[in-house]
Amino acid sequence: MKKLLLRLSVLAAISITAVILLAAALYERENVPEEAVFMPAIMYHSVCEKAPADYIVTPRQFEQDMIWLKENGFESVTEQQLIGYTHGECDLPEKPVLITLDDGFYNNYSEVLPLLEKYDMYAVVSVVGEYTEVNAPADPHIPEYSYLTWEDIAAMRDSAHFGIGNHTYSMHSLSGGRKGCSRNEGEPLDGYCMAIRSDIGLLQTQFQMNTGFVPVVFAYPFGAVSRESLPVLRDMGFLITLNCSERPNLITRDPDCLYGICRYNRSGLYDTASFMQRATQH
Ligand SMILES: [Zn+2]
Repeated sequence: MKKLLLRLSVLAAISITAVILLAAALYERENVPEEAVFMPAIMYHSVCEKAPADYIVTPRQFEQDMIWLKENGFESVTEQQLIGYTHGECDLPEKPVLITLDDGFYNNYSEVLPLLEKYDMYAVVSVVGEYTEVNAPADPHIPEYSYLTWEDIAAMRDSAHFGIGNHTYSMHSLSGGRKGCSRNEGEPLDGYCMAIRSDIGLLQTQFQMNTGFVPVVFAYPFGAVSRESLPVLRDMGFLITLNCSERPNLITRDPDCLYGICRYNRSGLYDTASFMQRATQH
């Protein structure tokens, strides 16, 4: 009798453990989105032969970064791949990475394009309208400080190594009490929405007129995000927004996961390995 009781209690213990394990597995499946892919995103600015700084890397550093990503199995993805994945229309590589460059420096064309070609990589450049319309034509094609002209932007897009994003027309500024395109304290919602719609919309119109295409990527200047901006950006047709929070991204089959892609700023003050290890951890 004692033996029977012992056997029964062992059996009961095994069954209870099995049920707990099954429940844990089901819980995990429900709470981790299926087909979620980890994707680091990197934000560069100027790539030129000036002294490395927070927003400047040398072409040599950029090349070392591309080599590190390749050697560690990362493949750069396009904005269209990301959009396609979230709609269930295509897959992503096992280790995707999003490479971005902000502000629209001419050196993104002159210095970066040859390296993207060499390593078969892709990057998204987010352009500031007034830099391209006003600053670039006044003093074009100096890698250290010029901005991209409309002709440069069209040629970059034709290269198939670049996607182009909108980084506001003239809100890349901290003056006037507003940080980038964020909402001022106490600013009426209507006025705020109208202000960003007209500024960002102006650049969309200029893109259409000068290059024949309209971006679907928007990069927040200084990563200054106001949640009230999202309905406006969605309504304008943007499908991806980029911020500057240094966190990993999880890409799922939900198109909404592309709003608020977090990026690591690639400061030139770090060596490739230490930056990349930080940017690709999750
Ligand atoms: Zn910027």
